[in-house]
Amino acid sequence: MVIVVASGKGGTGKTTFASNLALYLARKQHLCFMDLDVEEPNAHIFLKPEATSQYAVNKSIPEVDLQKCTFCGQCADLCEYNALAVIENDVMVFPELCHSCGVCQYFCPEDAISERDYEIGHIKVAELANIRFLEGNLNVGEITVPEVIHQVKDNIVKDGGIYLLDAPPGSSCSVVESVKGTDFCILVTEPTPFGLSDLALMVGVLKKLSVPAGIVINQYQEGQTIIDDYALKEDIPILARIPFDRQIAELYSTGIPFIEALDIYDDIFSGIIPQIEELLAK
Ligand code: SF4
Ligand code: SF4
Repeated sequence: MVIVVASGKGGTGKTTFASNLALYLARKQHLCFMDLDVEEPNAHIFLKPEATSQYAVNKSIPEVDLQKCTFCGQCADLCEYNALAVIENDVMVFPELCHSCGVCQYFCPEDAISERDYEIGHIKVAELANIRFLEGNLNVGEITVPEVIHQVKDNIVKDGGIYLLDAPPGSSCSVVESVKGTDFCILVTEPTPFGLSDLALMVGVLKKLSVPAGIVINQYQEGQTIIDDYALKEDIPILARIPFDRQIAELYSTGIPFIEALDIYDDIFSGIIPQIEELLAK
């Protein structure tokens, strides 16, 4: 089962929830946790992986053989992303802009273009007690976020286990890449008009991708029904309500997962997977 934890905006407690859920589940079973917030991964603050290994994430970019090239300029004209510039006796490649579409290579009349690997990031891997931890990292200055996310997700295998994915915040293309192909999405939100607005954007994305969802309301206070009303209207189940609790905020500020210090919240996490299984069975 591949479960992605997402939020329409940053600051809703998405990673806090995902990390605490992972630690709770790991008490009884092995799972794989993937931090897909590749521009600013931070789940490691709570999960504290040690002895990480890492491998590079590459994309293909063109390499021009200047002995064959006639500097006709077709490749630069055809490139949708302005990743090529043909100047007198040279073809400049801008790797950051290249989307590895292969069009320039395909249409070069002199067969002067080949491909080479270009590193855009890396993936850290670590084994914690009962958790296989993977963290995607995009190199500074690179923009092809979805490619790094895609390569982290390549580690998902159909082995019957649980994969818990921590998506980037927002509802952009990187979130779409994180969510597509998953079995279920947990949407973490806060009971405010801003939280509702961004939640609604994510619900729209999930409908387009046909991924079922449930909502977790973070920093919940009695009487705040703004998210409940929306969930009822959209027929999306509320999986859990995490109360507004100063102790959680204090633990967060020191990088301590609250599930490890406050066992009163075990009940919240124990119900998540059974509810998802029931929803998927329907
Ligand atoms: S299309 Fe081929 S021959 Fe023409 S400028 Fe580009 S690399 Fe050179
Ligand atoms: S592979 Fe595609 S995006 Fe990259 S330089 Fe060639 S045409 Fe442009």
